[in-house]
Amino acid sequence: MSYVDEIIEQVITKNPGEPEFHQAVREVLESIRPVIDANEEKFRRDALLERLVNPERQIKFRVPWIDDNGSVHVNTGYRVQFNSAIGPYKGGLRLHPSVNIGIIKFLGFEQIFKNSLTGLPIGGGKGGSDFDPKGKSDREIMSFCQSFMLELSKYIGADTDVPAGDIGTGAREIGYMFGMYKRIRNVFEGVLTGKGLSFGGSLARTEATGYGLLYITEELLKDHGIDIKGKTAVVSGAGNVAIYAIEKAHQLGAKVLTCSDSTGWVYDPDGIDVAALKQIKEIDRARLTEYKKYRPNSEYHEGRGVWQIKADIALPCATQNELDIEDAKLLVANGAIAVCEGANMPTTEAATKYLQENGVYFVPGKAANAGGVATSALEMSQNSERLSWSFGEVDSKLNGIMVNLYHNIAKAAEKYGYKDNFVVGANIAGFEKVLDAMNAQGIV
Ligand code: NDP
Repeated sequence: MSYVDEIIEQVITKNPGEPEFHQAVREVLESIRPVIDANEEKFRRDALLERLVNPERQIKFRVPWIDDNGSVHVNTGYRVQFNSAIGPYKGGLRLHPSVNIGIIKFLGFEQIFKNSLTGLPIGGGKGGSDFDPKGKSDREIMSFCQSFMLELSKYIGADTDVPAGDIGTGAREIGYMFGMYKRIRNVFEGVLTGKGLSFGGSLARTEATGYGLLYITEELLKDHGIDIKGKTAVVSGAGNVAIYAIEKAHQLGAKVLTCSDSTGWVYDPDGIDVAALKQIKEIDRARLTEYKKYRPNSEYHEGRGVWQIKADIALPCATQNELDIEDAKLLVANGAIAVCEGANMPTTEAATKYLQENGVYFVPGKAANAGGVATSALEMSQNSERLSWSFGEVDSKLNGIMVNLYHNIAKAAEKYGYKDNFVVGANIAGFEKVLDAMNAQGIV
Protein backbone atom coordinates (compact mmCIF):
# COMPACT_ATOMS: atom_id res chain seq x y z
CA MET A 1 0.00 0.00 0.00
CA SER A 2 1.30 3.49 -0.78
CA TYR A 3 2.45 5.70 2.11
CA VAL A 4 -0.41 8.17 1.44
CA ASP A 5 -3.09 5.44 1.52
CA GLU A 6 -1.58 3.96 4.66
CA ILE A 7 -1.77 7.30 6.48
CA ILE A 8 -5.33 8.02 5.33
CA GLU A 9 -6.35 4.62 6.72
CA GLN A 10 -4.47 5.28 9.96
CA VAL A 11 -6.17 8.66 10.42
CA ILE A 12 -9.61 7.06 10.03
CA THR A 13 -8.79 4.27 12.51
CA LYS A 14 -7.11 6.49 15.08
CA ASN A 15 -9.70 9.28 14.97
CA PRO A 16 -13.09 7.54 14.96
CA GLY A 17 -16.24 9.65 14.63
CA GLU A 18 -14.40 12.62 13.11
CA PRO A 19 -15.60 12.61 9.46
CA GLU A 20 -14.71 16.25 8.77
CA PHE A 21 -11.14 15.64 9.92
CA HIS A 22 -10.89 12.52 7.73
CA GLN A 23 -12.26 14.54 4.79
CA ALA A 24 -9.74 17.35 5.25
CA VAL A 25 -6.78 14.97 5.56
CA ARG A 26 -7.89 12.91 2.55
CA GLU A 27 -8.29 16.03 0.41
CA VAL A 28 -4.83 17.35 1.30
CA LEU A 29 -2.95 14.04 1.10
CA GLU A 30 -4.59 13.05 -2.19
CA SER A 31 -3.49 16.27 -3.80
CA ILE A 32 0.08 16.28 -2.47
CA ARG A 33 0.47 12.66 -3.61
CA PRO A 34 2.85 13.60 -6.46
CA VAL A 35 5.27 15.19 -3.98
CA ILE A 36 5.01 12.30 -1.49
CA ASP A 37 5.33 9.57 -4.11
CA ALA A 38 8.51 11.17 -5.43
CA ASN A 39 10.12 11.03 -1.95
CA GLU A 40 8.28 8.08 -0.43
CA GLU A 41 11.26 6.29 1.13
CA LYS A 42 12.65 9.33 2.92
CA PHE A 43 9.27 10.57 4.11
CA ARG A 44 8.34 7.12 5.43
CA ARG A 45 11.63 6.83 7.32
CA ASP A 46 11.08 10.27 8.87
CA ALA A 47 7.39 9.53 9.61
CA LEU A 48 6.72 12.85 7.97
CA LEU A 49 3.03 12.30 7.30
CA GLU A 50 2.41 10.88 10.78
CA ARG A 51 3.91 14.07 12.20
CA LEU A 52 1.81 16.17 9.82
CA VAL A 53 -1.55 14.59 10.67
CA ASN A 54 -1.06 14.36 14.45
CA PRO A 55 -1.47 17.72 16.22
CA GLU A 56 1.53 18.85 18.25
CA ARG A 57 -0.88 19.37 21.15
CA GLN A 58 -4.62 19.29 21.76
CA ILE A 59 -6.24 20.81 24.81
CA LYS A 60 -9.78 20.11 26.00
CA PHE A 61 -11.25 21.84 29.03
CA ARG A 62 -14.36 22.53 31.07
CA VAL A 63 -15.98 25.97 30.75
CA PRO A 64 -18.45 26.65 33.58
CA TRP A 65 -20.40 29.92 33.36
CA ILE A 66 -23.39 31.53 35.04
CA ASP A 67 -26.48 32.79 33.18
CA ASP A 68 -28.56 35.86 34.09
CA ASN A 69 -30.86 33.76 36.30
CA GLY A 70 -27.97 32.43 38.37
CA SER A 71 -27.99 28.94 36.79
CA VAL A 72 -24.65 27.32 36.03
CA HIS A 73 -23.90 25.83 32.60
CA VAL A 74 -20.93 23.79 31.51
CA ASN A 75 -19.52 23.80 27.98
CA THR A 76 -16.43 22.18 26.52
CA GLY A 77 -13.51 24.29 25.29
CA TYR A 78 -10.87 23.19 22.79
CA ARG A 79 -7.58 24.43 21.41
CA VAL A 80 -5.70 22.32 18.90
CA GLN A 81 -2.10 23.48 18.36
CA PHE A 82 -1.51 21.62 15.15
CA ASN A 83 1.78 22.69 13.61
CA SER A 84 4.30 25.38 14.58
CA ALA A 85 6.97 24.63 11.97
CA ILE A 86 6.77 28.05 10.31
CA GLY A 87 5.56 30.26 13.18
CA PRO A 88 3.38 30.57 16.30
CA TYR A 89 0.05 28.75 16.10
CA LYS A 90 -2.61 30.95 14.55
CA GLY A 91 -6.27 30.25 13.90
CA GLY A 92 -9.73 31.26 15.07
CA LEU A 93 -12.04 30.29 17.91
CA ARG A 94 -15.41 28.90 16.82
CA LEU A 95 -18.41 29.19 19.15
CA HIS A 96 -21.23 27.02 17.80
CA PRO A 97 -23.21 24.06 19.21
CA SER A 98 -21.84 21.82 16.42
CA VAL A 99 -18.25 22.20 17.65
CA ASN A 100 -16.45 19.01 18.67
CA ILE A 101 -12.84 17.84 18.57
CA GLY A 102 -13.17 16.51 15.00
CA ILE A 103 -14.38 19.87 13.67
CA ILE A 104 -11.58 21.72 15.45
CA LYS A 105 -8.99 19.25 14.12
CA PHE A 106 -10.27 19.60 10.55
CA LEU A 107 -10.08 23.38 10.83
CA GLY A 108 -6.65 23.31 12.50
CA PHE A 109 -5.26 20.97 9.85
CA GLU A 110 -6.53 23.19 7.01
CA GLN A 111 -5.11 26.21 8.80
CA ILE A 112 -1.53 24.88 8.51
CA PHE A 113 -1.60 25.09 4.72
CA LYS A 114 -3.68 28.26 4.55
CA ASN A 115 -1.27 30.10 6.83
CA SER A 116 1.68 28.86 4.85
CA LEU A 117 0.07 30.12 1.62
CA THR A 118 -0.13 33.68 2.96
CA GLY A 119 3.68 33.81 2.84
CA LEU A 120 3.68 35.05 6.46
CA PRO A 121 5.35 33.29 9.43
CA ILE A 122 2.34 31.68 11.15
CA GLY A 123 1.73 28.07 12.16
CA GLY A 124 -1.64 26.29 12.25
CA GLY A 125 -4.10 26.03 15.15
CA LYS A 126 -7.81 26.29 15.89
CA GLY A 127 -10.09 26.30 18.90
CA GLY A 128 -13.55 26.98 20.16
CA SER A 129 -16.43 25.61 22.17
CA ASP A 130 -19.87 24.05 21.78
CA PHE A 131 -21.27 27.17 23.48
CA ASP A 132 -24.11 28.78 21.49
CA PRO A 133 -23.94 32.60 21.57
CA LYS A 134 -27.39 32.91 19.96
CA GLY A 135 -30.01 34.43 22.25
CA LYS A 136 -27.54 35.11 25.08
CA SER A 137 -27.32 38.51 26.79
CA ASP A 138 -24.08 40.51 26.70
CA ARG A 139 -23.48 39.58 30.36
CA GLU A 140 -23.86 35.88 29.58
CA ILE A 141 -21.48 36.17 26.64
CA MET A 142 -18.99 37.91 28.94
CA SER A 143 -19.38 35.27 31.62
CA PHE A 144 -18.66 32.53 29.10
CA CYS A 145 -15.72 34.36 27.44
CA GLN A 146 -14.05 35.10 30.78
CA SER A 147 -14.34 31.51 31.95
CA PHE A 148 -13.09 30.25 28.57
CA MET A 149 -10.05 32.55 28.75
CA LEU A 150 -9.30 31.66 32.37
CA GLU A 151 -8.27 28.23 31.11
CA LEU A 152 -7.07 29.08 27.58
CA SER A 153 -4.68 31.76 28.89
CA LYS A 154 -2.40 28.99 30.23
CA TYR A 155 -1.59 27.84 26.71
CA ILE A 156 -1.45 30.95 24.50
CA GLY A 157 0.75 34.05 24.14
CA ALA A 158 1.86 36.61 21.53
CA ASP A 159 4.84 34.41 20.51
CA THR A 160 3.20 31.03 21.17
CA ASP A 161 -0.36 30.88 19.94
CA VAL A 162 -2.51 33.81 18.77
CA PRO A 163 -6.23 32.95 18.39
CA ALA A 164 -8.72 35.05 16.42
CA GLY A 165 -12.44 35.11 15.59
CA ASP A 166 -14.48 32.56 13.62
CA ILE A 167 -18.14 31.57 13.54
CA GLY A 168 -19.78 33.02 16.66
CA THR A 169 -16.65 34.90 17.75
CA GLY A 170 -16.66 38.51 16.64
CA ALA A 171 -15.31 41.79 18.02
CA ARG A 172 -17.46 41.60 21.17
CA GLU A 173 -16.21 38.14 22.18
CA ILE A 174 -12.57 38.96 21.32
CA GLY A 175 -12.85 42.10 23.49
CA TYR A 176 -14.10 40.15 26.53
CA MET A 177 -11.44 37.48 26.06
CA PHE A 178 -8.65 40.03 25.64
CA GLY A 179 -9.72 41.89 28.79
CA MET A 180 -9.63 38.67 30.80
CA TYR A 181 -6.24 37.59 29.40
CA LYS A 182 -4.75 40.95 30.35
CA ARG A 183 -6.15 40.65 33.85
CA ILE A 184 -4.84 37.14 34.38
CA ARG A 185 -1.39 37.61 32.88
CA ASN A 186 -0.89 41.32 33.59
CA VAL A 187 0.52 41.84 30.13
CA PHE A 188 -0.81 43.93 27.26
CA GLU A 189 0.28 42.02 24.20
CA GLY A 190 -1.06 40.95 20.82
CA VAL A 191 -2.33 37.61 22.09
CA LEU A 192 -5.55 37.77 20.06
CA THR A 193 -6.33 39.30 16.69
CA GLY A 194 -9.58 40.84 15.59
CA LYS A 195 -9.29 43.25 18.53
CA GLY A 196 -11.13 46.58 18.71
CA LEU A 197 -9.34 49.53 17.11
CA SER A 198 -8.86 51.27 20.47
CA PHE A 199 -6.79 48.40 21.88
CA GLY A 200 -4.51 47.14 19.14
CA GLY A 201 -6.87 45.99 16.41
CA SER A 202 -6.04 46.50 12.77
CA LEU A 203 -8.02 48.57 10.34
CA ALA A 204 -9.43 46.38 7.56
CA ARG A 205 -9.33 43.17 9.65
CA THR A 206 -13.13 43.09 9.79
CA GLU A 207 -13.35 43.35 6.01
CA ALA A 208 -10.29 41.22 5.24
CA THR A 209 -11.69 37.74 4.60
CA GLY A 210 -14.53 38.92 2.37
CA TYR A 211 -12.43 41.48 0.56
CA GLY A 212 -9.59 38.99 0.11
CA LEU A 213 -12.04 36.48 -1.35
CA LEU A 214 -13.02 38.99 -4.01
CA TYR A 215 -9.42 40.01 -4.71
CA ILE A 216 -8.51 36.41 -5.50
CA THR A 217 -11.72 35.87 -7.49
CA GLU A 218 -10.99 38.99 -9.54
CA GLU A 219 -7.41 37.83 -10.21
CA LEU A 220 -8.54 34.31 -11.16
CA LEU A 221 -11.00 35.71 -13.69
CA LYS A 222 -8.50 38.27 -15.00
CA ASP A 223 -5.95 35.51 -15.51
CA HIS A 224 -8.51 33.76 -17.72
CA GLY A 225 -9.39 36.88 -19.68
CA ILE A 226 -12.67 37.57 -17.86
CA ASP A 227 -13.69 40.89 -16.28
CA ILE A 228 -15.50 40.60 -12.95
CA LYS A 229 -17.34 43.83 -13.71
CA GLY A 230 -20.92 43.14 -14.78
CA LYS A 231 -20.92 39.56 -13.50
CA THR A 232 -23.59 38.17 -11.17
CA ALA A 233 -22.83 36.22 -8.00
CA VAL A 234 -24.60 34.03 -5.46
CA VAL A 235 -23.36 34.18 -1.88
CA SER A 236 -24.34 32.01 1.10
CA GLY A 237 -24.05 33.20 4.70
CA ALA A 238 -24.78 36.57 6.21
CA GLY A 239 -21.94 36.80 8.69
CA ASN A 240 -18.57 38.50 8.68
CA VAL A 241 -17.21 36.81 5.57
CA ALA A 242 -20.41 37.05 3.52
CA ILE A 243 -21.15 40.71 4.31
CA TYR A 244 -17.73 41.99 3.25
CA ALA A 245 -17.57 39.66 0.25
CA ILE A 246 -20.84 41.19 -0.97
CA GLU A 247 -19.58 44.72 -0.24
CA LYS A 248 -16.37 44.23 -2.24
CA ALA A 249 -18.16 42.40 -5.07
CA HIS A 250 -20.39 45.45 -5.51
CA GLN A 251 -17.38 47.78 -5.38
CA LEU A 252 -15.79 45.77 -8.18
CA GLY A 253 -18.93 46.09 -10.31
CA ALA A 254 -20.43 42.62 -9.82
CA LYS A 255 -24.00 42.10 -8.58
CA VAL A 256 -24.71 39.73 -5.68
CA LEU A 257 -28.19 38.23 -5.80
CA THR A 258 -28.40 36.14 -2.62
CA CYS A 259 -27.36 35.66 0.99
CA SER A 260 -28.49 33.22 3.70
CA ASP A 261 -28.41 32.44 7.40
CA SER A 262 -28.96 29.27 9.38
CA THR A 263 -32.74 29.39 8.89
CA GLY A 264 -33.37 30.80 5.42
CA TRP A 265 -32.17 32.70 2.38
CA VAL A 266 -32.82 35.88 0.45
CA TYR A 267 -33.02 36.50 -3.30
CA ASP A 268 -32.77 40.14 -4.26
CA PRO A 269 -32.89 40.64 -8.04
CA ASP A 270 -31.68 44.24 -7.62
CA GLY A 271 -28.55 43.16 -5.74
CA ILE A 272 -28.21 42.63 -1.97
CA ASP A 273 -28.44 45.86 0.02
CA VAL A 274 -25.28 45.71 2.15
CA ALA A 275 -26.31 48.54 4.48
CA ALA A 276 -29.55 46.70 5.31
CA LEU A 277 -27.66 43.44 5.81
CA LYS A 278 -25.20 45.10 8.22
CA GLN A 279 -28.07 46.65 10.18
CA ILE A 280 -29.85 43.27 10.49
CA LYS A 281 -26.84 41.10 11.26
CA GLU A 282 -24.17 43.32 12.84
CA ILE A 283 -26.37 45.72 14.81
CA ASP A 284 -29.76 44.12 15.46
CA ARG A 285 -28.38 40.52 15.49
CA ALA A 286 -31.69 39.52 13.87
CA ARG A 287 -32.88 36.97 11.27
CA LEU A 288 -32.91 37.49 7.51
CA THR A 289 -36.71 37.56 7.62
CA GLU A 290 -36.18 41.27 8.42
CA TYR A 291 -34.57 41.92 5.00
CA LYS A 292 -37.88 42.28 3.16
CA LYS A 293 -38.73 45.33 5.29
CA TYR A 294 -35.81 47.13 3.65
CA ARG A 295 -36.28 45.67 0.15
CA PRO A 296 -39.91 44.87 -0.68
CA ASN A 297 -38.87 43.47 -4.09
CA SER A 298 -36.79 40.71 -2.54
CA GLU A 299 -37.88 37.16 -1.69
CA TYR A 300 -37.27 35.30 1.58
CA HIS A 301 -37.35 31.49 1.63
CA GLU A 302 -37.03 29.11 4.57
CA GLY A 303 -34.31 26.45 4.41
CA ARG A 304 -31.42 26.44 1.97
CA GLY A 305 -31.48 27.25 -1.76
CA VAL A 306 -29.09 30.00 -2.88
CA TRP A 307 -27.32 27.72 -5.39
CA GLN A 308 -30.43 27.37 -7.55
CA ILE A 309 -30.23 31.03 -8.59
CA LYS A 310 -28.48 31.48 -11.93
CA ALA A 311 -25.21 33.41 -11.60
CA ASP A 312 -21.67 33.58 -12.99
CA ILE A 313 -19.86 33.20 -9.67
CA ALA A 314 -20.70 31.25 -6.49
CA LEU A 315 -19.17 32.22 -3.15
CA PRO A 316 -20.08 29.86 -0.27
CA CYS A 317 -19.42 31.87 2.92
CA ALA A 318 -21.39 30.11 5.70
CA THR A 319 -20.08 26.77 6.95
CA GLN A 320 -18.60 23.36 6.05
CA ASN A 321 -20.30 21.02 3.55
CA GLU A 322 -23.06 23.48 2.61
CA LEU A 323 -22.64 23.00 -1.16
CA ASP A 324 -23.29 19.40 -2.17
CA ILE A 325 -23.36 17.44 -5.41
CA GLU A 326 -26.96 18.47 -6.23
CA ASP A 327 -26.02 22.11 -5.74
CA ALA A 328 -22.94 21.63 -7.94
CA LYS A 329 -25.14 20.20 -10.70
CA LEU A 330 -27.41 23.25 -10.49
CA LEU A 331 -24.44 25.62 -10.71
CA VAL A 332 -23.03 23.82 -13.74
CA ALA A 333 -26.43 23.69 -15.46
CA ASN A 334 -26.76 27.43 -14.86
CA GLY A 335 -23.39 28.11 -16.50
CA ALA A 336 -21.36 29.17 -13.43
CA ILE A 337 -17.77 30.15 -14.28
CA ALA A 338 -16.16 30.01 -10.85
CA VAL A 339 -16.71 28.83 -7.28
CA CYS A 340 -14.44 30.43 -4.68
CA GLU A 341 -14.81 29.32 -1.07
CA GLY A 342 -15.18 32.04 1.57
CA ALA A 343 -15.98 29.50 4.28
CA ASN A 344 -13.78 26.59 5.31
CA MET A 345 -14.53 23.42 3.30
CA PRO A 346 -18.09 24.47 2.34
CA THR A 347 -18.04 22.25 -0.76
CA THR A 348 -18.33 18.48 -0.35
CA GLU A 349 -15.71 16.25 -1.98
CA ALA A 350 -18.17 14.99 -4.61
CA ALA A 351 -19.31 18.53 -5.45
CA THR A 352 -15.73 19.76 -5.80
CA LYS A 353 -14.93 16.93 -8.19
CA TYR A 354 -18.06 17.57 -10.24
CA LEU A 355 -17.34 21.29 -10.56
CA GLN A 356 -13.74 20.67 -11.61
CA GLU A 357 -14.73 18.00 -14.13
CA ASN A 358 -17.25 20.36 -15.66
CA GLY A 359 -14.82 23.19 -16.24
CA VAL A 360 -15.80 25.44 -13.31
CA TYR A 361 -12.76 27.21 -11.81
CA PHE A 362 -12.69 26.15 -8.16
CA VAL A 363 -10.56 27.89 -5.53
CA PRO A 364 -10.57 26.13 -2.13
CA GLY A 365 -11.05 28.03 1.13
CA LYS A 366 -7.51 27.55 2.31
CA ALA A 367 -6.46 29.87 -0.52
CA ALA A 368 -9.59 31.93 -1.15
CA ASN A 369 -10.31 32.90 2.47
CA ALA A 370 -6.68 33.32 3.55
CA GLY A 371 -7.06 37.11 3.53
CA GLY A 372 -8.50 36.95 7.05
CA VAL A 373 -5.58 35.22 8.67
CA ALA A 374 -3.11 37.18 6.53
CA THR A 375 -4.52 40.42 7.92
CA SER A 376 -4.45 38.91 11.40
CA ALA A 377 -0.74 38.40 10.88
CA LEU A 378 -0.51 42.05 9.80
CA GLU A 379 -2.28 42.94 13.08
CA MET A 380 0.42 40.95 14.93
CA SER A 381 3.12 42.92 13.10
CA GLN A 382 1.50 46.23 14.04
CA ASN A 383 1.21 45.11 17.68
CA SER A 384 4.90 44.15 17.77
CA GLU A 385 5.86 47.51 16.28
CA ARG A 386 3.33 49.31 18.51
CA LEU A 387 2.12 51.10 15.40
CA SER A 388 -1.18 51.28 13.51
CA TRP A 389 -1.26 51.31 9.74
CA SER A 390 -3.93 53.13 7.72
CA PHE A 391 -6.89 51.30 6.17
CA GLY A 392 -5.43 51.86 2.71
CA GLU A 393 -2.03 50.47 3.72
CA VAL A 394 -3.51 47.26 5.16
CA ASP A 395 -5.98 46.86 2.30
CA SER A 396 -3.27 47.24 -0.33
CA LYS A 397 -1.03 44.71 1.46
CA LEU A 398 -4.04 42.35 1.56
CA ASN A 399 -4.62 42.83 -2.15
CA GLY A 400 -0.93 42.11 -2.86
CA ILE A 401 -1.01 38.97 -0.70
CA MET A 402 -4.12 37.59 -2.46
CA VAL A 403 -2.82 38.33 -5.96
CA ASN A 404 0.53 36.66 -5.13
CA LEU A 405 -1.24 33.75 -3.51
CA TYR A 406 -3.31 33.18 -6.63
CA HIS A 407 -0.24 33.09 -8.87
CA ASN A 408 1.65 30.81 -6.43
CA ILE A 409 -1.10 28.21 -6.42
CA ALA A 410 -1.63 28.49 -10.18
CA LYS A 411 2.13 27.96 -10.74
CA ALA A 412 2.33 25.01 -8.33
CA ALA A 413 -0.62 23.33 -10.08
CA GLU A 414 0.94 23.83 -13.50
CA LYS A 415 4.39 22.63 -12.34
CA TYR A 416 2.94 19.25 -11.37
CA GLY A 417 0.82 18.95 -14.53
CA TYR A 418 -2.52 19.99 -13.02
CA LYS A 419 -3.11 23.35 -14.74
CA ASP A 420 -6.10 25.21 -13.26
CA ASN A 421 -6.55 22.63 -10.49
CA PHE A 422 -6.31 25.10 -7.60
CA VAL A 423 -6.98 22.43 -4.98
CA VAL A 424 -3.79 20.63 -5.97
CA GLY A 425 -1.98 23.95 -6.39
CA ALA A 426 -2.98 25.26 -2.96
CA ASN A 427 -2.17 22.05 -1.14
CA ILE A 428 1.21 21.60 -2.79
CA ALA A 429 2.27 25.26 -2.46
CA GLY A 430 1.16 25.33 1.20
CA PHE A 431 2.77 21.98 1.98
CA GLU A 432 6.18 22.67 0.41
CA LYS A 433 7.06 25.47 2.81
CA VAL A 434 5.90 23.53 5.89
CA LEU A 435 7.80 20.47 4.67
CA ASP A 436 10.99 22.47 4.25
CA ALA A 437 10.70 23.90 7.78
CA MET A 438 9.87 20.51 9.32
CA ASN A 439 12.83 18.89 7.60
CA ALA A 440 15.19 21.64 8.75
CA GLN A 441 14.06 21.40 12.39
CA GLY A 442 14.66 17.66 12.83
CA ILE A 443 12.35 15.13 14.44
CA VAL A 444 10.37 17.29 16.88
P1 NDP B 1 -20.25 34.31 11.23
O1 NDP B 1 -20.63 33.65 12.52
O2 NDP B 1 -20.02 35.77 11.21
O3 NDP B 1 -21.32 33.97 10.09
C1 NDP B 1 -21.63 32.67 9.72
C2 NDP B 1 -22.83 32.70 8.80
O4 NDP B 1 -23.11 31.39 8.37
C3 NDP B 1 -24.08 33.21 9.47
O5 NDP B 1 -24.89 33.83 8.52
C4 NDP B 1 -24.73 31.93 9.99
O6 NDP B 1 -26.13 32.04 10.15
C5 NDP B 1 -24.37 30.95 8.88
N1 NDP B 1 -24.19 29.60 9.43
C6 NDP B 1 -23.36 29.21 10.43
N2 NDP B 1 -23.48 27.90 10.67
C7 NDP B 1 -24.42 27.46 9.82
C8 NDP B 1 -24.99 26.19 9.58
N3 NDP B 1 -24.62 25.12 10.28
N4 NDP B 1 -25.92 26.10 8.59
C9 NDP B 1 -26.28 27.20 7.87
N5 NDP B 1 -25.77 28.42 8.07
C10 NDP B 1 -24.86 28.54 9.02
O7 NDP B 1 -18.96 33.52 10.73
P2 NDP B 1 -17.88 33.97 9.65
O8 NDP B 1 -18.52 34.75 8.58
O9 NDP B 1 -16.73 34.53 10.38
O10 NDP B 1 -17.39 32.55 9.10
C11 NDP B 1 -18.01 31.90 8.00
C12 NDP B 1 -17.09 30.83 7.46
O11 NDP B 1 -15.86 31.45 7.03
C13 NDP B 1 -16.67 29.74 8.44
O12 NDP B 1 -16.47 28.54 7.72
C14 NDP B 1 -15.34 30.23 8.95
O13 NDP B 1 -14.52 29.19 9.46
C15 NDP B 1 -14.76 30.82 7.66
N6 NDP B 1 -13.70 31.80 7.84
C16 NDP B 1 -13.90 32.95 8.55
C17 NDP B 1 -12.88 33.88 8.65
C18 NDP B 1 -13.09 35.19 9.31
O14 NDP B 1 -12.18 36.04 9.24
N7 NDP B 1 -14.22 35.46 9.92
C19 NDP B 1 -11.55 33.63 8.08
C20 NDP B 1 -11.47 32.41 7.28
C21 NDP B 1 -12.51 31.54 7.21
P3 NDP B 1 -26.76 32.83 11.39
O15 NDP B 1 -26.70 34.29 11.01
O16 NDP B 1 -28.16 32.31 11.47
O17 NDP B 1 -25.94 32.51 12.58
